[in-house]
Amino acid sequence: MANKKDKLICLDCHHNFTISDDEKKMYQKIDIELPTLCFFCRVKLHLSFWLFGKFRKGVSDLSGKSLITILPENARYPIYTLKEWHSDKWDAMDYGVDYDPSHSFFKQLQILQEKIPRPHQSASNNTNCEWSDDVWNSKNCYLSRSLEKCEDLLYSYRNLKVKNSIDVVLCFNSERCFDCSNCDHSYKLFYSTNSRNCIDSYFLFDCRNCQNCFMSWNLRNKSFCIENKQYTRKEYFEKLKKYDLASYSTIQKLKNLFNEIVKEKVIHRENFNYRVYNSVGNFLMNTKDCYNCYVFSEGEDVYNQVRGINNKSCIDASACWYSEFCGNSSCCLNGYNLKYCLSSSARNSEYLDLCIECDNCFGCVGLKKKKYCILNKQYSKKDYEILRNNIISNMKKIGEYGKFLPYSMSIGPFNFSNSFQYFSDTKKDDILNLGGYWQDIDETQIEGMLVNELPDSINEINESICTQALICQESGWRFNISKDELLFYKQNNIPLPRLHFDIRINKKLKHLSVLRSYPSNCFYCHKKIDAYYPPEWGYKKIACEKCFKQYLT
Ligand SMILES: [Zn+2]
Ligand SMILES: [Zn+2]
Repeated sequence: MANKKDKLICLDCHHNFTISDDEKKMYQKIDIELPTLCFFCRVKLHLSFWLFGKFRKGVSDLSGKSLITILPENARYPIYTLKEWHSDKWDAMDYGVDYDPSHSFFKQLQILQEKIPRPHQSASNNTNCEWSDDVWNSKNCYLSRSLEKCEDLLYSYRNLKVKNSIDVVLCFNSERCFDCSNCDHSYKLFYSTNSRNCIDSYFLFDCRNCQNCFMSWNLRNKSFCIENKQYTRKEYFEKLKKYDLASYSTIQKLKNLFNEIVKEKVIHRENFNYRVYNSVGNFLMNTKDCYNCYVFSEGEDVYNQVRGINNKSCIDASACWYSEFCGNSSCCLNGYNLKYCLSSSARNSEYLDLCIECDNCFGCVGLKKKKYCILNKQYSKKDYEILRNNIISNMKKIGEYGKFLPYSMSIGPFNFSNSFQYFSDTKKDDILNLGGYWQDIDETQIEGMLVNELPDSINEINESICTQALICQESGWRFNISKDELLFYKQNNIPLPRLHFDIRINKKLKHLSVLRSYPSNCFYCHKKIDAYYPPEWGYKKIACEKCFKQYLT
């Protein structure tokens, strides 16, 4: 039977969108209101609450202690150090207020939110990782985010068990890598993408188990290849000598060549799914009955999920982990029956922000282990239920109930949120019109050196560069080269970067942030496929799963 769809108009972008019968069933199953925004505007709103930020120094609003944070300057809320935030030096219940039925609930929740401190960093069990965020069980990581069990990492993002590397994004179990994304189990791999078990190689795309390969693609179990051509060991190293890898202009030329190869010669899989059953989306692993999900693993019966692990029966639960029966929520962990919640671990609750281990709470911020609270005030079970129902019916009258928190409650500027990575063409005015925030950073007052004045080769650089701020040629932001970093570049023959590290990370996310498929035909058998590559990328050879395997080199 055909899946009937309702046609609706998105309140934010005014485009038409549909809700399928299956989605409707899921909304009913977890008992939440039908969305008023299209899928893209839902994700855009949800991820705007997850800050990517820009590292800065600041002080605790409680103790005046210095701290390093990605939270914005002049934040709408106090910032405490993580330790202070978890201490008994303050109590979120002290900020509790009565509900005022004559005013918007969202307004009251926002006024409360602006009084409650937020911790300066998300982290635990790290050594020397002050200049990092969302970092766990790691050591000596610097200006990096979203790391677990990493060591000696610089300017990196979303990595697990990576050591001694720079500029790596979405990499696992790797060491001594530079400028790689979506690579794993690799050692001394440089300028590479979508590769695994590779050693001592440069410019690889979709290679497996390769050693000493250069500018190659779709290779399996090879050594001494250049542009997919087999050489002897001796020939390979002789050929390699002709490339001056220490030179910035050489690397730029090779990068341009690599980009052309990726467009013209690489065979691209229709998707990056692995061990999926009855599931639709991209970068899925071990999922069953999941629909329209992206970068999601270990899930069952999940709809419209972007980023997450281990969810069951959820819909529109962006960046939620280990959750069940959750809907229209963002950045929640260990949630059960959560609706319209942000950054919380709770059960049977709605409209929470930054709450830990709460149950049956409604519209609260920063609470720990509470039950039957509304606007951070304690009620009896009976009074809680009466007031909650009263608020919901008032919210329904003014069209608030069922919507996620508004942009005005975002933690920071949209252009420094994870959402901007997915919706990078969003304009400042559009976000301001939606009530959100934007920050233009002008660092022209900080003295710096223009990167085009740098010598071309790393061999011509000495330690004096480490005392000098460089000016990013794209953003104008200032950045420094640390001594450890310079040593890594010298040891590995890598020219100095010309862009600010956060700009470099964002560039590598392009192929990981596509949230829709494009109907296409397999390059080889012409079978209809859903590929996750926008046509403007110009990829020529997109193959169905069967042909992809068959035509590998
Ligand atoms: Zn929309
Ligand atoms: Zn095919």
